[in-house]
Parts: sequence; C-alpha cells; structure tokens
Amino acid sequence: MGKITIAIDGYSSTGKSTIAKELAKSLNYVYVDTGAMYRAITLFAIENNCIVDHEIDFKKLIGLLPKAKLKFQFNDELGFSEMFLNGKNVEKEIRSMRVSKEVSKISVIPEVREKLVNMQREMGNSKGIVMDGRDIGTIVFPNAELKIFMTASPDIRASRRYKELISRGENVEFEEVLKNVRERDYIDSNRASSPLVKAQDAILFDNSDMGLKEQFERIHYYALQVIDKNKKNA
Ligand code: C5P
Repeated sequence: MGKITIAIDGYSSTGKSTIAKELAKSLNYVYVDTGAMYRAITLFAIENNCIVDHEIDFKKLIGLLPKAKLKFQFNDELGFSEMFLNGKNVEKEIRSMRVSKEVSKISVIPEVREKLVNMQREMGNSKGIVMDGRDIGTIVFPNAELKIFMTASPDIRASRRYKELISRGENVEFEEVLKNVRERDYIDSNRASSPLVKAQDAILFDNSDMGLKEQFERIHYYALQVIDKNKKNA
C-alpha cells in the first residue's frame, strides 16, 4: 500500500541509472532503464542493416519493428535487470559507442517511441516503480508522484562516461565522448516527438558537484517524504 511511481529524467550520463537502481533496491521497487530499450532497438536496426553509413532506412526499420522483442530479465547475482533482444543478452553491446552514436537518431522515430512508451506504461501500471529516461515525467507517467530532473555540466558528464567506457575496455578518446554527449543533448532536446524537457512539477537536481552518496541520500529522502504523504492520503 502507498506505493508510488518515481520518474527520473535528465541529460545523458548524469548518473540517472545508478541512482534509480539504488533507490529501487532500497524501496523494494522495480527499476526500469528506458534508455536500454532505445539502445536495444538501435542495435536491432544496426544488425538488420537499417543503418548504413549512419543513414537510417526508416521504412525498413518501421516494417521490422514488430520483430524486435525486448525483455528485461532480473540477474540475481548482479542485483538488477539485463536487456534481452530476441532472446539474447545484449547488455554489453547496447552500451558501446557504436550504439551510442546512433541511438538519439533512432529515438526520434514516432513509431519507435510509441512501441516503447506502451511497454513502459504496462510495466508501471501497478506502481512501485522507478523509471529513468528522457520523457518519463512528461509523457510516460505525467501523473508520477515524484519526478526528478537530473543535470550536470557536459564536461563532467563526458568524463564520467569516458571512465566507464575505458573501464569496460573500449578504446575511446575523451573528445569523442564529449562530442557524443553534446550531440545527444541537442537531438534529445530538439526533437519534435516528446523532446527532453523538465516537467513543470519535477525537482531540478544538478549533481555536478555531488558524490553518489549525497545524491542517493537526498533523492531517497524526497521519495520517503512523498511515500509517507501518499500513505496518509490513502
Ligand atoms: O539513458 P541513455 O543514455 O542510455 O539513453 C540513450 C538514448 O536513448 C538517449 O540519448 C535518448 O536519445 C534515448 N532515450 C529517449 N527516451 C527515453 C530514454 C532514452 O529518447 N525515455
């Protein structure tokens, strides 16, 4: 009883998923990383030759979309869900630069958004969910009881992403990662279909100068306050 919906939106590499994952764990809620879903569709597009020389064959991809079966499967050892595309674990591939370079272009396609937004609403229809993405508080769950909009300076975000990619063994340059962060910010914020904007009732959360522990404590506190209020009103 008293379970709520928590929407965490914001720019790329703001650490949304790290905080959302921790928060879900501490509240015993389900965590959904919607970026993983857009990334999986992008991998599907690459594997099915719908992206050639960075050009997207929209018609082909839209025709093939019903064949892209996405599934989150909980990994007990890791303590979070992993993304499966047509039965295959694609966690590693979807986080690669190859996918990052194309994902924002795939995410502008209304048919892709419609498919994924429907899945997301279904996953959250019994509440008790922490979902992170770009349009969760505005489009997917406009009535979410708690909305957080995360931001940090592009340099700080790129350096976090760079360290993450290097630790996974990817051979990337910092400048390439910074360029990708800026490009995704631009495309995500300027697309016609559900652009990245802060919902009016979202809490603006700039974590440029904040460590993970402080971020978690603050957001956890917001969540407990809202859950408490929700219980009293039930
Ligand atoms: O969160 P992450 O950086 O993994 O998301 C990858 C990309 O997926 C974003 O840059 C954005 O283009 C797209 N996305 C989106 N809507 C969401 C989640 C992600 O358009 N709800």
